[in-house]
Amino acid sequence: MKTFTYDRAGDVAEALAALAEPGTQLMAGGTEMVNWLKEGIETPDRVVDINGLPLASIDTSGPLRIGALARMSDVAADPVVQQDYPVLRDSLLRAASAQLRNMATIGGNLLQRTRCAYFRSDTPLPCNKREPGSGCSALIGDTSAQAIFGWSESCVATHPSDLAVALAALDASVIVQGPSGERRIPAVSFHRLPGDTPALNTELASNELIVAVEVPAAAPRSHYLKVRERVSYEFAVVSAAAVISLEGDTITSARIAVGGVAHRPWRLTAAESALTGVSITDRNALSDAVALSFADARPLADNGYKVILAQRAAVRALEEAR
Ligand SMILES: Cc1cc2nc3c(=O)[nH]c(=O)nc-3n(C[C@H](O)[C@H](O)[C@H](O)COP(=O)(O)OP(=O)(O)OC[C@H]3O[C@@H](n4cnc5c(N)ncnc54)[C@H](O)[C@@H]3O)c2cc1C
Ligand code: SF4
Repeated sequence: MKTFTYDRAGDVAEALAALAEPGTQLMAGGTEMVNWLKEGIETPDRVVDINGLPLASIDTSGPLRIGALARMSDVAADPVVQQDYPVLRDSLLRAASAQLRNMATIGGNLLQRTRCAYFRSDTPLPCNKREPGSGCSALIGDTSAQAIFGWSESCVATHPSDLAVALAALDASVIVQGPSGERRIPAVSFHRLPGDTPALNTELASNELIVAVEVPAAAPRSHYLKVRERVSYEFAVVSAAAVISLEGDTITSARIAVGGVAHRPWRLTAAESALTGVSITDRNALSDAVALSFADARPLADNGYKVILAQRAAVRALEEAR
């Protein structure tokens, strides 16, 4: 591991000033950052601890506003989140392990990087995300865990955050602060598609800090379904977040985001439109609506199974949201 200096920022202004210095990396819970330091994914000269910033509150007095430094476990345990935002609660409780959730923050979770095995390899392998221009080992290797939507010839990775999928279905915003003030980025487009620049992961500028996420409205009828290879402490193979409104059994609005299928949470917009007026008890109609959003899926050599699995996950999430 490369040697670096370690400092603490006392407030947002100090953190922003630190970000202006080249070679600086911020650290919140450190659960992702320390892996990068060990694996050589990041080699900063200076690590600045931001845990002293006043950004850990959970404000439920208006639209739900969660500070970037709130711990995943604290958010999942909040009584209002438990009651009114089950999709958010379960996306947090089904992520990582209890110990990690006690340390890991909301901002850090959104900024975690892909679990693509070639990107995380101890032995350097061609990876355009890690070394731009070096190639994509996954594209000519094992594609079983990779994307079926939105990938490019440069990168076929998926994003691993469970929280991001729930926030996308909730129409949440990521609130960021830079030298010229605050701005809001829709959660659904906070993560970038790889295109020709897969090393750029999000819309966050290098001189900006995440200060909070905001969810506009409660979602009591919502569900997060995570399909994984073992029942705990594992990343999603695919996942689905569903938020619905009903009159009787009839769907009056539906929002669905799917995870594990793209470099960002993938909203099923065609399915959402088709679901209005459908009975939540009519599984065939739910499946037909969801299938509309998979007509343009582009599976790779080894991941055709995700096209089926993600559709079934979306249908189940809708049913559970009821
Ligand atoms: C073994 C393991 C299993 C896991 N399983 C899952 C899982 O199933 N699902 C899931 O969703 N996640 C999973 N994770 C990821 C975990 O949730 C993240 O590691 C964690 O959320 C990162 O938060 P942190 O506060 O520790 O971030 P850090 O490691 O401190 O930081 C990560 C990055 O975010 C930046 N950063 C942090 N906060 C801010 C901010 N406010 N503004 C700007 N930049 C910031 C840091 O500079 C750094 O670049 C797993 C992690 C591990 C190690
Ligand atoms: S899929 Fe992306 S992260 Fe994985 S090896 Fe290819 S370029 Fe790297």
